[in-house]
Amino acid sequence: MNNSSGDAPRFALVAHDARKDEIVDWVGLQLARLSRVQIFSTGTTGSRIKQTYPELDVTCLKSGPLGGDQQIGAMICEEKLDALIFFVDPLSPMPHDVDVKALTRLATVYDLPMACSRSTADLIVKGLIDEDDNAPV
Ligand code: PGA
Repeated sequence: MNNSSGDAPRFALVAHDARKDEIVDWVGLQLARLSRVQIFSTGTTGSRIKQTYPELDVTCLKSGPLGGDQQIGAMICEEKLDALIFFVDPLSPMPHDVDVKALTRLATVYDLPMACSRSTADLIVKGLIDEDDNAPV
């Protein structure tokens, strides 16, 4: 994991509007693991997650269309994230869909684990959190 300081892993969680209910459900299914993670989210996604799970450590950035996705991009290039979970809406055109491309590019450049769907998000969260449990002390 990038985060060698022993601090909690840092995950960015984002969802387009059509998939916000799905990411909130997914967070619920992974609550035990995500309670050990520092979460950074775009404004609306983060508010939804916080509202449903106030016990989680969630930092809300700006809303995605107003630059929140780009704030996440900056965190990727500053190596301040360990994973990006972005539930993208693949069926609707939107004014800021270039942001998805930019984040995918940066995640590739920095070899950051990135998921756009539930099954891959499960693999990432299990891999990174359970791997931490097995790390030698
Ligand atoms: P939001 O942004 O969480 O503020 O809705 C997500 C996005 O559309 O990028």
